[in-house]
Amino acid sequence: MTELSNFAGDKMAYIDGLPFPIVTGETILQFAKRHHFSIPTLCDDTKLESYGACRVCSVEVALQADGDAKVMASCHTPISEGMHVQTQSAQIQKLRKNIIELVLTDHPLDCLTCESNGNCELQDVAAEVGIRKIRYKNSTDHSDYRTDQSHPYMRSDLSKCINCYRCVRACDEIQGEFVLAIQGRGFNSKIIKGASADGIELSFDDSACVSCGACAQTCPTAAISDVFQSKSVQAEKKVRTICSYCGVGCNLEVSVKNNEILSIRAPSDAEVNQGHTCLKGRYAWRFYNHPDRLTSPLLRKNGQLEKVSWQEAYQFIGDKIIKLRKTLGSDTIAGISSSRCTNEENYLMQKLMRVAIGTNNIDCCARVCHSPTAYGMQQAFGTGAATNSIKDLTKTEFIMIIGANPTAAHPVTGAKIKQQLMKGLPSIVIDPVKTEVAKYATYHLQLRPGTNLAVLNMMSYYIIQSGLVDQNFINDRCENWNVFEEEILNIDIDALEKISGVDRELIKQAATAYANANAAMSFHGLGVTEHSQGSRTVMNIANLAMMTGNIGREGVGVNPLRGQNNVQGAADMGCQPHQGAGYFPVDIEENQELYERHYGVAMPTSQGLKIPEMFDAAINGSLKALWIMGEDVVQTDPNQAHTLNALASLDLLVVQEIFLSETAKIADVVLPGASFLEKSGTFTNGERRIQAVRAAVKPIEGSKTDGQIVADMINHLGHRQSSAEPEEMLKEISQIVPFFKGVKWQELGDNGKQWPVLEDGNGTDILHVDEFRRGRGKFHFFKFEETKELIDHAKKFPFILTTSRILEHYNAATMTRRTGNELIIDKDILLINPKDANKKKIANFSKVKLSSERGEIELTAELSDKVKAGVLFTTFHFPELMVNRVTGDAKDTETLCPEYKVVAVDIDVVI
Ligand code: SF4
Repeated sequence: MTELSNFAGDKMAYIDGLPFPIVTGETILQFAKRHHFSIPTLCDDTKLESYGACRVCSVEVALQADGDAKVMASCHTPISEGMHVQTQSAQIQKLRKNIIELVLTDHPLDCLTCESNGNCELQDVAAEVGIRKIRYKNSTDHSDYRTDQSHPYMRSDLSKCINCYRCVRACDEIQGEFVLAIQGRGFNSKIIKGASADGIELSFDDSACVSCGACAQTCPTAAISDVFQSKSVQAEKKVRTICSYCGVGCNLEVSVKNNEILSIRAPSDAEVNQGHTCLKGRYAWRFYNHPDRLTSPLLRKNGQLEKVSWQEAYQFIGDKIIKLRKTLGSDTIAGISSSRCTNEENYLMQKLMRVAIGTNNIDCCARVCHSPTAYGMQQAFGTGAATNSIKDLTKTEFIMIIGANPTAAHPVTGAKIKQQLMKGLPSIVIDPVKTEVAKYATYHLQLRPGTNLAVLNMMSYYIIQSGLVDQNFINDRCENWNVFEEEILNIDIDALEKISGVDRELIKQAATAYANANAAMSFHGLGVTEHSQGSRTVMNIANLAMMTGNIGREGVGVNPLRGQNNVQGAADMGCQPHQGAGYFPVDIEENQELYERHYGVAMPTSQGLKIPEMFDAAINGSLKALWIMGEDVVQTDPNQAHTLNALASLDLLVVQEIFLSETAKIADVVLPGASFLEKSGTFTNGERRIQAVRAAVKPIEGSKTDGQIVADMINHLGHRQSSAEPEEMLKEISQIVPFFKGVKWQELGDNGKQWPVLEDGNGTDILHVDEFRRGRGKFHFFKFEETKELIDHAKKFPFILTTSRILEHYNAATMTRRTGNELIIDKDILLINPKDANKKKIANFSKVKLSSERGEIELTAELSDKVKAGVLFTTFHFPELMVNRVTGDAKDTETLCPEYKVVAVDIDVVI
């Protein structure tokens, strides 16, 4: 969108004789398009830098009305005041026609069999410039180019290539991957995906391609294309919705025919993702109608799960809940909501627990990922959400990334960050693993896992010592500075340097560079939160931002990279045991009255159980029933034996799922829910953007949307829930959640709104501009403390295992394992430093046994210097391996978020 500030007053230029206002910095092509004049293009793509190669966009330009006109490429010629542009003169039309005719001499003209699926821009441009027949013969024959069918999602047939290089530019400029290149010259120039050491051209499969599909999306001729269904199948509608994998919240455009999805592309006007996605959003959708989908409620009878009607399932659950409530009390029942579900569904789930059942025992998977972020940022700022927007990446002067691997876990934002780092933006990466962004970082502080707090305290120390604090900001807007400063100046630098394993000089340089930047943004991920000092580390990140004045303006702030698509929304909607919808603490009378006025029933008065407490309560017999919506806790929660023990101790386990997950397999009742492609509602992404999710297809036969299931049960338990539809639900939510006050379903549009959304409907892209939500920002000091996991187990288990995700799969991989992504990566791999491998006599790709105090598993080891000696890394995507058999019980002190990132283990060769 053109920013008003760029309008150059009343300066005008002329298109085909008509005057129009210009905008500073615009090209002639952008100027003409903005005023709805059509100029054909071939090598141009609005997502890419102007290239000016094909000249199809040529126009005649004169500097005054009767001045001499020159032919110029409109895509890279700036518009200026008084310019006269002719877009359709006879000379220009002849030139364009000739160019396209020449392009067609190097194109197979197989329009009837081409896989462009009706999206051939070359065909469109040829028609637009009036080509009816080709005057020239084909000058070359590239039919010997072999089609590359090595990839599950993309193929290439370079005989169709017209050398516009859009694919190469997309790979470089959008994804920053540099996989595609041009080989040869003139008519023999060809796009390649790299070459092996002995010069053999690589296929997609062999190349370093990350399968984002940007090349296929931009290619104008299907020389690189998606593996489409049959050409004869044309979409009957396109539905705009939001990806349900990570917290970036990419917009998707889903092509549908006869209630079946044909393909997904990224809309180029999406403010979040500007026409780009990763392979999960664009290609990993075929799980939605996979034969494994659950299509009927299941009830355990005689030890077996049997298909039953919805009525029978509801009756069974209702009878059990009512009996428990009557005999043992509401607090013997608990619910776990889902960050994969919509805001409206999460809101209903907490309503089921609080209003229909009468307990605050409601939690969500934020507990096992970003609960320390919400808690820590609330303590420091008053609001547990990102302070800024991702678009600020173009305004910032410095990026600090702590415990996050954005190119793998938040790929579209990761690609944007990587682009900035490759352009030379100064940066710090604090991570025990050599992540992709670490390769480009100015300072990579490769600390020992679990020592974030030690390094951040050292950074604060050096900033204070170097006199780089923003004292005006601190005085005007913060509190507790003096206490904090005194504590920091007393830290034991020698000890912390030893503990963290990072050279103090490097930390000092990094800290002073951060403090010297005019605008510095920080991003953090689960490598911060999933630690015993996770919440404290988040408060330390907030300390750094406040002491350097990096809050409340463009290009700064503390920006958690949210893991799941709607983890922000699940917490906003009240799926937490201590705060209801809108973050009102549930144990304060005034808030109980507020909820009571709204819901018309007495509210539970004490805080509920967090997920780990629910499991402990199940084992000690005080929790009898658990309803889990869309979470596979058996596969994803730590110390699997403990989780299984807890679930086995319950009288009633209800699981709402789309597949028979490891948790669903042991449930008493399984209720078939629907995927994001089958439902409408809203997701809130990591930058607080509430976006409309729109059903592309109907729920698969036999299933229901998760909101409908929960609403049915609220009604079954005797409370009225007339609708689960987003319009109605948002009306209700906006009455109770203050920062949703102005949210209306019809007004969300394509790009949504960032909360707080005011009553007039305006959103907010930067928080804490004039003052913090809590009034003054608060400094907190915490001493580094060694994790209990290492104190108790490091002697017997001397390696530190740290776990995370990879690009191709998502969490328990319930969805991605049922797509072509499994053809790309089909197992969890353990990374081990070559020095350790040598000591332990472990060969590359050999089977190893990984053991901890909790259990052991076998997996394949890969030698890699991405991890330091003494550190091991793996993922937990595959149930065959069950990596969480070895993870432990250590938890964040404040929020009980499990410490997945530091696990004491040993490793041995499997003989
Ligand atoms: Fe989906 Fe995240 Fe990939 Fe975007 S970056 S397509 S939201 S998984």
